[in-house]
Amino acid sequence: MKKVFKKILHFIYSLRVQVLLVLLVISLIPLYFISTSIINVYNNHIINQRAEELKRYGTIISNLIISKGYLLKPYDSSVDTEISEIAEIYNGRILVADENLKIIKDTYNLENNKLVISSEVIKCFSGNEENFTVDLGNYIQITMPIIDSSTQTIKGALIMSFSKSNINLISEKVTDNINFLVAIIAIIIILIAVLYSFFITIPLNRIATSINGISEGNMDVKLDIHGYEEVKSISNSFNTMIDVIQDQEASRQEFVSNVSHELKTPLASVKVLADSLISDEDTPVEMYREFMGDINNEIERMTDIVNDLLSMVRLEKKSAKMQVVNTNINEMLERLIKRFRPIAKDRKIDLIYESFRPVTADIDEVKLSIAINNLFENAIKYNYDGGWVKISLNADHKYFYVTVQDSGVGIPEELQEKIFERFYRVDKARSRETGGTGLGLAITRKIILLHNGVIKVHSIEKEGTTFTIRIPLSYSSAVSEVETVEAPKTPETEVKLDEKL
Ligand code: ADP
Repeated sequence: MKKVFKKILHFIYSLRVQVLLVLLVISLIPLYFISTSIINVYNNHIINQRAEELKRYGTIISNLIISKGYLLKPYDSSVDTEISEIAEIYNGRILVADENLKIIKDTYNLENNKLVISSEVIKCFSGNEENFTVDLGNYIQITMPIIDSSTQTIKGALIMSFSKSNINLISEKVTDNINFLVAIIAIIIILIAVLYSFFITIPLNRIATSINGISEGNMDVKLDIHGYEEVKSISNSFNTMIDVIQDQEASRQEFVSNVSHELKTPLASVKVLADSLISDEDTPVEMYREFMGDINNEIERMTDIVNDLLSMVRLEKKSAKMQVVNTNINEMLERLIKRFRPIAKDRKIDLIYESFRPVTADIDEVKLSIAINNLFENAIKYNYDGGWVKISLNADHKYFYVTVQDSGVGIPEELQEKIFERFYRVDKARSRETGGTGLGLAITRKIILLHNGVIKVHSIEKEGTTFTIRIPLSYSSAVSEVETVEAPKTPETEVKLDEKL
């Protein structure tokens, strides 16, 4: 029972029914009022026409009464005949009253010699020459003065009542005809409204079907709906959304396949090493150690990949909350650089830090440290022994800029945009050797974007690479506008706070 009720409610609230109801209301109600007012106007018109006709006859009778002196000698047969004939033709009754309000002629012979006292008759005698027409439902009554035109005096009154039955007959016929026409127009309107309300919802139903298709996993739906502009625009937005979903799906699949691929190599190595240890029973202890060491390295590598993946996922999440604190950037960079000193020293790489002014900015220190750490790590990893890494910090009124420049192997120009993609490595072998996962720069870029910042790379092969990041000094959760990320030119005379740590 509840279900049926719900179904009925859904049906009533459907666009189709709403459109249908609106169309019917705005067309049938005016149609009804127009038709009834046409009928009323027509009825009034034929009644007025009949009244005018009778008034004309009334004037003729009045003139005859005066000319024949009928009021003084009410037995002139020619006047009697005329009055009776007219009363008969119009199926009515005519009364003639003299100036003493005495009825001298009644075609029904019921009120002869009686006095007539009606407001209309009294008005007639009060000098008002107008005729009085009263519609009394089934009959019309016209009261008019009998005027002697030679003396312009009112000599009596003529009271004519006529049945409306034959007029009603005509008006009923006309009303029937009009009602028949209105019924046909109403049927046509209803048909058009039903068809229109049916067609108007077809494109919407097609969109709904396609959306249902997506929830069932069918991504191969594209809408090509012609119709009114709004539906076209929904259809275009829908297609754009499908494109985005398809892109996301492709990137998800690529990501999963990349992750599997990355983990496959260390897993295969571990398997080969373990197999050879298992199959050879007399493996010397040294070899055992060596193989176990290799297995350990591979496990470490997999741990690195998994940790980087976890960081990525955390950053991708909408809930990646920014713990923004006003931080001294100079101190933060100094701390980070200090950690790299031993590794740089090992490879005889010179680590130079220059800061052009004290900078404090609203940043998430933990996240930004990871991002900048990755840049330092790469600058050393992809450098030549005995090379240099220059780190600089500058700011203007809106942004601060960190550049990490190295004298390393560089990146071919055509690959410079790709290095920010997940798992992309220019030289797989070298990256693997140095323990790279191919996720570092993807993480770095994500973190910079979370700070509404921009990261750019400039590199010349075999000469070196420069990464520049630009981050707003004050954090806002709004998305940053895309601009070029040129560090401000620093005048030579400007005092450097730190030449070397
Ligand atoms: P990886 O873990 O391999 O270092 P990254 O995402 O940090 O991954 O870097 C992606 C690739 O970009 C690296 O494999 C390397 O080929 C290249 N790259 C990054 N930084 C530098 C740099 N300073 N100099 C030369 N090549 C670099």
